[in-house]
Amino acid sequence: MLALFDLDNTLIDRTAGLEDWARGFVRSRALPHEADAIICDRLSERAHPEDFVDLRAILHLGDAPEDLWREYVDGVAHSVHCFPGAREGLEALRRAGWTIGIATNGAGDIQRAKLAATGLAPLFHGICVSGEAGVRKPERRFFEAAAAECGLALNDGGWMVGDNPETDMVGARTAGLRTMWVAAGREWPDSSPAPDAIASDIVGAIGVLRGERV
Ligand SMILES: [Mg+2]
Repeated sequence: MLALFDLDNTLIDRTAGLEDWARGFVRSRALPHEADAIICDRLSERAHPEDFVDLRAILHLGDAPEDLWREYVDGVAHSVHCFPGAREGLEALRRAGWTIGIATNGAGDIQRAKLAATGLAPLFHGICVSGEAGVRKPERRFFEAAAAECGLALNDGGWMVGDNPETDMVGARTAGLRTMWVAAGREWPDSSPAPDAIASDIVGAIGVLRGERV
């Protein structure tokens, strides 16, 4: 059975990693304290090389935007950590016969750098990154591509585990996958159709999967 996993704030704590990196960056450039919040606000949902064209101007930095992007990619990749128990849970799913894949929106270089730096990459049968696939969650074609990376098709069935109600849950449901929402202390928004399962964190989510038939 296939289980696709979102990466940011599902398997790894991107929010904390970004905050750590931004603090260090602001210190290293002796920028004013408020630069920290400006960077985190700008990059809170996603980060692309174009963001550093704007941040360079706003923060009066002399670096080339592409150098700032590379510094960000390397810095954030080494600042993010897996949520406790995530790695062990994924290993247990593999041992139990699950096919597991990454289904993440983002630029290829940053998403792959995070997967490599956290040591998660070798655990997966397939990795699908929107910046490389040319299509993003919540589009059905993205989930098709993610399943194909794992050597499977959507009509083989499977699960999507993620933290985003729209891109992860509604998207995967529309693509015919079962859906598991990692709540992380939030309430499910009433505006969206409920997922098949809700877990408080990634360990709980993997626990539910392990109770399913493979
Ligand atoms: Mg996410």
